[in-house]
Amino acid sequence: MAERLVVIGGDAAGMAAASQARRRRDRTELEIVAFERGHFTSYSACGIPYWVSGVVSEREQLVARDPATFRERFDIDVRLRHEVTAIDPERREVVARDLAGGGQVRERYDVLMYATGATPVRPEWAADSIAGVFGVQTLDDGTALLDWLDREPRPRRAVVVGGGYIGVEMAEALLQRGLSVDLVEQADRPMATMDPDMADLVLDALRRIGVGIRTGLTVTGLRERDGRVAAVVTPEGPIPADVVVLGLGVRPNTALAEAAGLPLGPTGGVRTDRRMRVPGVTGVWAAGDCVETLHRVSGLPVHVPLGTHANKQGRVAGINIGGGYATFPGVIGTAVTKVCDLEVGRTGLRERDALAAGFEFVSVIAESTSRAGYYPGARPMTVKLIAERSSGRLLGAQIVGWSEAAKRIDALAVALWNGMTVDEMTSLDLGYAPPYAPVWDPVLIAARKAVDALAR
Ligand SMILES: Cc1cc2nc3c(=O)[nH]c(=O)nc-3n(C[C@H](O)[C@H](O)[C@H](O)COP(=O)(O)OP(=O)(O)OC[C@H]3O[C@@H](n4cnc5c(N)ncnc54)[C@H](O)[C@@H]3O)c2cc1C
Repeated sequence: MAERLVVIGGDAAGMAAASQARRRRDRTELEIVAFERGHFTSYSACGIPYWVSGVVSEREQLVARDPATFRERFDIDVRLRHEVTAIDPERREVVARDLAGGGQVRERYDVLMYATGATPVRPEWAADSIAGVFGVQTLDDGTALLDWLDREPRPRRAVVVGGGYIGVEMAEALLQRGLSVDLVEQADRPMATMDPDMADLVLDALRRIGVGIRTGLTVTGLRERDGRVAAVVTPEGPIPADVVVLGLGVRPNTALAEAAGLPLGPTGGVRTDRRMRVPGVTGVWAAGDCVETLHRVSGLPVHVPLGTHANKQGRVAGINIGGGYATFPGVIGTAVTKVCDLEVGRTGLRERDALAAGFEFVSVIAESTSRAGYYPGARPMTVKLIAERSSGRLLGAQIVGWSEAAKRIDALAVALWNGMTVDEMTSLDLGYAPPYAPVWDPVLIAARKAVDALAR
């Protein structure tokens, strides 16, 4: 008799696992049922800001594989609008509510794939029944926001609450749609994923494109007019808003896991081993934004909710479920984003992470240009490197620049992944031609500067 794999969560991690398992075991060996509470499978939440801005015109462009494709090409029984409400590890069953048709189903499993993603932080004031407040976690959220932006009377003033990369991307998107935008951030600057000196470059860019920056400020409530949001309330007074977008971060979505007794780690994410198997429970696997993972530089568990990891982890789980062998080696925290033309990249540890992990380190900032100084279009680029004092090993890197900056972080990520010292990096054979780099690439200039700092 065929085994049965039940997947909870029909996006990156869940469907990567399901399709990898299917590639290795056909229907006679493995039945696959995937529960997804939303309307879509394998969608790109990462694309939502670009859909809202209008750069991407159709919602369907953000769907990599729809349920029909999974049913027809992968023989996967996708149950949309079904929310799993409980896992019973004793009976090896999940209970799901049919959100569209009503009623409840129980589904037996031999193998369970837990891929519920993350839950956005939603403050109490956002739970008020005031129209015009939106998260941007799912395509349904994006649809609701776009409907609101297109509805009369059209919103003119937006407030984005939270200055992480999603808040920053949404501020740009709303600005591009012609709204005036205020970004409210509790900390003293947005982009806490960067060190303050690098985040300040992003802050300047946001100001230059016309985003009103309100830092050190906590939103405590909403004001309404005729059931619609009219302002966010802060200790410094109300900020007018016809639409409010929340970008306050996410937590691993572990409610079902916790209730079923699956082990959680110190970050709150589900614990897994390197094959993405949940330890201590037979036949249960987990991947994506709901799990914690190992930081390869600090050696500490971390929760890094990024699509790049969700896809890879889901693939690893699926290969193992399908009878193969694969491991997920951990992360180093590489991420990129942009504010209009300003590109932002980071990898490894920030100064505060390095301190928390107990490293002694030096950090340097190198100013350079994206192309040969004489070549048209050369723009400033700032590279920051953090290196361990005793060994010279690269611990972290950040780049901010006006063009060709973000993907340069990949060269640094490879160096970091492979434990290179900044001294070794000074000789890296990176490509050079005037349209692409100065003769000394900004990465090499920063590495040389770090070597000098270590020698002092
Ligand atoms: C606006 C935005 C921009 C982003 N940009 C980037 C980027 O540029 N780069 C990057 O790497 N990452 C980015 N991310 C993060 C990336 O989208 C996530 O890391 C990725 O989607 C995680 O995949 P996942 O499968 O683990 O979780 P999710 O994508 O959250 O999928 C989990 C699915 O499970 C479903 N679900 C949850 N509970 C249940 C239940 N009980 N029953 C049934 N279904 C359930 C949910 O409806 C959801 O569809 C962005 C995220 C957002 C919101």
